[in-house]
Amino acid sequence: MKSHARVVVVGGGVMGVGLLYHLALEGWTDIALIEKGELTSGSTWHAAGQCPHFNGSLNMTKVHLYGTQLYPKLEELTGQAVSWHGCGGLRLATTDEEVNWLKYVYGISKLAGYEGEIIGPSEIKQYHPYLETFGIKAAFRTVTDGHVAPADITNAMATGARKLGAEIYRRNRVLDIKLLPNGEWRVFTEQGNIDCEHVVNAAGSYCDVVGSWTGHNVPIANMLHQYIITEPLQELIDLKQELPVVRDPYSHAYLREETNGVLIGPYETATAHTCWDGQPPRWDYESELEPNELERIMPWLEKATERLPLFGKAGIKSIISGAITHTPDGVYLSGPAHGPKNYWMHCGASIGICQGGGAGKYLAQWMVHGQAEINMREFDPRRFGNWATKDYTAEVSVADYHHMYYCYKPAEQHDVGRGLRKSSLYNKLKAEGGQFAQIFGWERARWFDKSGKGEQYSFRRNNAFESVKAEALAVRERVGLMDLSTFAKFEVKGLDAFAFLNRIHANKMPSKNGGLTLSHLLNDTGFIESEMTITRLADDHFYVLSAAAAQDYDFDQLSWRLRAGENVTITDVTDDYAVLVLAGPRARDVLSQCTKTDLSNAAFPWLTAQVGEVAGVRGVRLVRVNYVGELGWEIHVPMAEAPKVYDALMAAGKSHGIQLFGTYAMNSLRMEKSYRGWGSELTAEIDMFEASMSRFIRLDKEDFTGKAASLNLKQRGPRIQLVYMEVDNTDSDCMGNEPVYHDGKIVGLTTSGGFGHAVGKSLAFAYVDPKLTTVGTEFDVMVFTEKRKARIIAESIWDPKNERLKA
Ligand SMILES: Cc1cc2nc3c(=O)[nH]c(=O)nc-3n(C[C@H](O)[C@H](O)[C@H](O)COP(=O)(O)OP(=O)(O)OC[C@H]3O[C@@H](n4cnc5c(N)ncnc54)[C@H](O)[C@@H]3O)c2cc1C
Repeated sequence: MKSHARVVVVGGGVMGVGLLYHLALEGWTDIALIEKGELTSGSTWHAAGQCPHFNGSLNMTKVHLYGTQLYPKLEELTGQAVSWHGCGGLRLATTDEEVNWLKYVYGISKLAGYEGEIIGPSEIKQYHPYLETFGIKAAFRTVTDGHVAPADITNAMATGARKLGAEIYRRNRVLDIKLLPNGEWRVFTEQGNIDCEHVVNAAGSYCDVVGSWTGHNVPIANMLHQYIITEPLQELIDLKQELPVVRDPYSHAYLREETNGVLIGPYETATAHTCWDGQPPRWDYESELEPNELERIMPWLEKATERLPLFGKAGIKSIISGAITHTPDGVYLSGPAHGPKNYWMHCGASIGICQGGGAGKYLAQWMVHGQAEINMREFDPRRFGNWATKDYTAEVSVADYHHMYYCYKPAEQHDVGRGLRKSSLYNKLKAEGGQFAQIFGWERARWFDKSGKGEQYSFRRNNAFESVKAEALAVRERVGLMDLSTFAKFEVKGLDAFAFLNRIHANKMPSKNGGLTLSHLLNDTGFIESEMTITRLADDHFYVLSAAAAQDYDFDQLSWRLRAGENVTITDVTDDYAVLVLAGPRARDVLSQCTKTDLSNAAFPWLTAQVGEVAGVRGVRLVRVNYVGELGWEIHVPMAEAPKVYDALMAAGKSHGIQLFGTYAMNSLRMEKSYRGWGSELTAEIDMFEASMSRFIRLDKEDFTGKAASLNLKQRGPRIQLVYMEVDNTDSDCMGNEPVYHDGKIVGLTTSGGFGHAVGKSLAFAYVDPKLTTVGTEFDVMVFTEKRKARIIAESIWDPKNERLKA
């Protein structure tokens, strides 16, 4: 075995091998993969091999689509035989909300470019003569879905990788991994050590153990999953064409043909559990199956027999029972781990056969080029922090498994694994009817429900609409108060703090103490990595805020850019401060009753900050900025003291009609102000010019990260351009990833949307062909398969001159 490689991949399942192959295709060939047994001897060998396209995420759809396009070609590409079965697929819908979902996914199929259609129950028999159609309202038919033998594609990609120069060491267990003083990683194996620039954890069911060696928290649970194959059936032998793979919410199972028998795999909606009592598998566990638990899955098999009576006609040939890695949100982990650079996760896949090719392609792009051509946020392992403990992961993974074929309505979350991170105001907001959502472990109020019914989730507008309207209008007309303690918060201190922040940011840093600026971190290729608000508290002290979900991600973004010898410390103070947003025309009247700080425009202008005393609490950071576009302050209070400040503001605000508001109202308000969102409008696939954010990039500034690339990007011109639109108002708003048409052709896609309650319009952002960005240009946006008229409007529809902010 060699002693040094650019990349060492730990684990030879479909994920590790898929990455190895694509790293080699991207041109990195000094790469090695280490596998303790034989390739595929973990979860991969016993998988059922289905590769569907139907998915509610555009990025994930691109991952799936790449696989289904690659696998049929792999034999030709590598010389290794691959048994691709392009039998198509049928995703059934049995409720109206499921039909809505099918319609939303139809738009995604158009954007991703795969062939799919929604058919009625009467058409189903044409594609699947043996399926019973009771209770079915519609089905999404995918033409190019298929299934494949998992070992075939893994071995083919291994062959392809080897041919390009990659090395694979089998029967060699990795024993430990350590960070070396020079920033490289040492991988200790049974056959000796190998040092590398990049190490990848693709250890499947063992990935949490492998991660623990370097202090990484890897939130996966190994779920026990089973499928059954019957003896051959004459009906299927006689069929000329293979039946499509069916995914059925009634039996909560996949049902397909396998060597002229029937293959059925239910995802139990109750009683599922982790393997091995939640412990990692034995190190000598290799190509084994677990004892089957047929009794446990009987209720779902009975339903599957009702759906496909053929299943009941044949004897069982085999029962496959094995471990499947599962993350709390059901999406695999792929990207840099939080902490020292160049440790990558590539694990936690529960649909890894389908995803192995695409997941490998896009992570390889990220590793080699610094970014992928798709938005990788939803795969980034840093979406989970240390709050995602083992117990949380097991509990939520079980719940997620139970919901594998459940149709999540937008914004719907699990009830389990909750309450991990709460601001000191949680109980007060809860008492006011706060409806909370989990974000990076925090509980954050979306809206306030006076009825006690809670949110009735739907793809269309739901029972929250009128309450959210009242909250949004209160902010516009009077004053609103919001708990935004979830902000990620960092202190950047030291003699070089200003120079450091100025060097890494696209905007100029505030030159005076008390100044603040909104700025972006770009990568070397000029694309947008992060958005931060930076407040200068002193010459050598900056307070940096960013999105809640970016807490670990942005800590890495900052700390990875530090240079040796720079006098800078970066501290995560997220949990230390609560943040109250007080906004609306009467915000000054309310706040001035609780503080002696002069809040007049002359003494406290817009986009400045001061430290003062509020409600007797000292050291409160008052920042005159907000995301809702009104006169207002963010009030940053030491966490334990926040209830005192909250009580004082609520009492002072009573006569002004103060109203609590949540993130739903905030979204409505920010859409009216055309404020972009990190992760939706601002992503690493986009540059500042495309995002119509030129005023935030100071190309006249001395060098900063991404400046040279940005100059080139500016010269090149945008590939797509962000526009702000009004969409014809019906019963729903754009959610993002709806296709945008012009003259009957797709010219772009939405990124987010919402109803502007103060303006009475449905608003959306979209990226479109840069030739079509003039105000007034008309489009058709496909929302739930209907084309709705939309037109570009000038930014912003509310207070375009920012007069209210500066009032
Ligand atoms: C019954 C069942 C049916 C399934 N059906 C489907 C399906 O139809 N479609 C689909 O897409 N997915 C399906 N899956 C899921 C799929 O099998 C997994 O998502 C996928 O195999 C995960 O691949 P992996 O490479 O991450 O893990 P693995 O295949 O487990 O590979 C990890 C490898 O790492 C090695 N390793 C671990 N630790 C070390 C170490 N210290 N040193 C060296 N090597 C190490 C292991 O030996 C193993 O070979 C199914 C799973 C099950 C259980």
